[in-house]
Amino acid sequence: MTRRWSILTPVCAALSLLQIACGPATTYDVVVANGRVMDPESGVDGVRHVGITGASIAAISERPLRGTRVIDASGHVVAPGFVDLHEHGQQEESYAMMVRDGVTSALELEVGTGDVAPWYAARDNAGGQIVNYGVSVGHIQARMKVLGDPSKGLLPTGIGGSGAATEAQIAEMESMLRKGLAEGAVAVGFGSAYTPGATMAEIERMFRVAAEGGASAHIHMRNNVAGLDSTIAAAAAAKVKLHIVHVNSSGDTNLVAFLDHIKAARDKGQDVTTEAYPYGAGMTEIASALFDDWKTWPDSRFGQHQLVSTGERLTRRTFEQARKQGITNATVIIHGRSEEQTRAAIVSPLTMIASDGFIENGRGHPRTSGSYSKVLGKYVREEKALPLMDALRKMTLLPAQRLEARVPAMAKKGRIKVGADADLTIFDPATVIDRATYEDATIPAAGIPYVIVGGQVVVDSGKVTTARPGRAIRAPVQ
Ligand SMILES: [Zn+2]
Repeated sequence: MTRRWSILTPVCAALSLLQIACGPATTYDVVVANGRVMDPESGVDGVRHVGITGASIAAISERPLRGTRVIDASGHVVAPGFVDLHEHGQQEESYAMMVRDGVTSALELEVGTGDVAPWYAARDNAGGQIVNYGVSVGHIQARMKVLGDPSKGLLPTGIGGSGAATEAQIAEMESMLRKGLAEGAVAVGFGSAYTPGATMAEIERMFRVAAEGGASAHIHMRNNVAGLDSTIAAAAAAKVKLHIVHVNSSGDTNLVAFLDHIKAARDKGQDVTTEAYPYGAGMTEIASALFDDWKTWPDSRFGQHQLVSTGERLTRRTFEQARKQGITNATVIIHGRSEEQTRAAIVSPLTMIASDGFIENGRGHPRTSGSYSKVLGKYVREEKALPLMDALRKMTLLPAQRLEARVPAMAKKGRIKVGADADLTIFDPATVIDRATYEDATIPAAGIPYVIVGGQVVVDSGKVTTARPGRAIRAPVQ
């Protein structure tokens, strides 16, 4: 048998180069036929037929393939499924919105969780999710627990944010982060903007724990350009891989300086990356430390704030009311950034696309439902502000590569190649666009008729199916 293969294999290879069939044709579980396959890793950009067996890509061919199910992708782009490194909505309602925006892997790496094993168990035990999911172990959450913050939500509303930690408390946080990493956390999350009581020395101690575990540190940082510089310096001292979340909102009117300083650190050899979402408004919990100075604001500033639960714009009086009720985790959308800032963040070669999305009971930010389609429709097609392949690289290969050192399985995501996970997003480049608004964040994106996760069709003719192939993205458990 060995001998027979040794003769036949090169013959078949030669015949296949000549595009002549050799042996019985394989029938794939799913074939995505006639689509324009775009793979940012190899640079492939051409019409191909993709054959899927089980959860993996088994063939990419210029000739038609036979499949049990054949999806005709004529006129459509076939891209690797989008990998979102910043997604707070880690439940079915959010997954169902983001998957129609092309996301196949959603990771909560900024805030993360204080309790990694139960976080995964809750989702694994549900028998699969619509998309793949993963989490960081979070300094914010560890701090809330160790200092005894009153909030039960994602962010502190009291001492967990503003309090100073003792040496013993810092050591306790370190051991919580170490435990989370041992349980397979994908990264370590930080929000120094939400924990003004945490000194940079405390942050640097936590960076060192991340570095020990080979994990990247994903941080919502504070204090503008000076804060960026001190964060980069702390990361350099700790030798940790640093990821600055939402440079568009953290940079705000200093966006250009932010990007310059990140580039300067990279040029010196430091591992610093960043991300952006394509909206001029942010969103956060109204009781968080970001608004601790609200009493000093001019009256005119309150109107930039829109309560997520009702859609109403706030005044000094209604802001105060909502903030008092913030213990129940009222969220607020903050308007005000210019379109020029948003565009500059999206087109920068330094940024990945990440949604920072969240939706619950039908209320949330449109970035949950439209970040990726808005980049593809508005910035790529309408404004021609960046090439399609560059946009796809920001959505697929770059975020997958960010996590690969700690999560080797990410080397199979963000690419279209034989052996890669069959996570695919199929969209019409002529019509893809976001439709969600600040008033209704649940309107799904248009122009993304098919999404495949782990070889199973989860969006079929624009509708979410009953398939739940999404699996945990997790670092090896120690
Ligand atoms: Zn966030």
